[in-house]
Order: sequence, then C-alpha cells, then structure tokens
Amino acid sequence: MEIYKTKQIKRAIDKISEISESKVSQEVCGLLGKKKDYYVIQECINISETPRDQFVLDPIQYVLFKNEYEPIALFHSHIVGDESPSDYDILMSENSCLPFMIYALNTKAFYIHVPKNLDVDIELVKKTQYKIEENKHDKYKNIRNNV
Ligand SMILES: [Zn+2]
Repeated sequence: MEIYKTKQIKRAIDKISEISESKVSQEVCGLLGKKKDYYVIQECINISETPRDQFVLDPIQYVLFKNEYEPIALFHSHIVGDESPSDYDILMSENSCLPFMIYALNTKAFYIHVPKNLDVDIELVKKTQYKIEENKHDKYKNIRNNV
C-alpha cells in the first residue's frame, strides 16, 4: 500500500488523522516509522473479520516494514467511542512491545499507549507524544480564541 514520507513529525501525525478520517465505516490501521531524517507512514490492510469493531494488522506487513524502516508506533482508528485503548489494544501493544497510537473520529484526538517492554526508541516515541500534546493545546487555544 501507499507510503507517505515527511521530515516533520507534525505532518506525519496530521497524515495519520487524514487516513483515519478517510474511512468512517471501519477501523484503519498502519505503521509509523523513521528512516534517516524522514518519517514514514504506511497504511495497512485491516484483515479483521469485524473491521468496524476491531483491527488486525497482517504480521507480514509489519515484518516488511521493519526490514525497511525503524518502527515508532502502530496506529489505528476508533470509529465509535473515544481514543482510549480497549483491553484488546493494551494486550496487543504489551505483547508486541510496540506503542499503539489511537485516533478517535468522535473526539479528533490521539492517545498513545506505551507498553512496559518497549522494542522501539523511546526518544522517538516521546517526540511523537509531545507533538500530540502540543496539537491538543493549539486546538484548545483556537477554540478559546474563537469564542
Ligand atoms: Zn482500538
């Protein structure tokens, strides 16, 4: 599937929300990674039998991605409810040692679950978390300014 590259983490996060917003009837999933000085976003096929309620990322897609890029997080969307991780999300994140980034269509907000055992560079994860917090702050600021 299509690969998107950008040097700015903010653009990478915006791209993930765009991909999520593009499908309203099923959860999207994909991978965020890095290579040299650019970030990479790859949307993956949700192979779940019930893609409206859950996502399953093809493990082969992850292996192929990992061969080429340094993974930062796995992302998926929630089309119902908010951006809080489900029990399944937490379990899968802990088992794969990969941070799970969730974007909720209802709240337009992100959440990152960071597993106890981490298989990726913590500095890259922190940078992503920081940017998400900054985006939230900007959004609230804009709302306040518009009142
Ligand atoms: Zn989820």
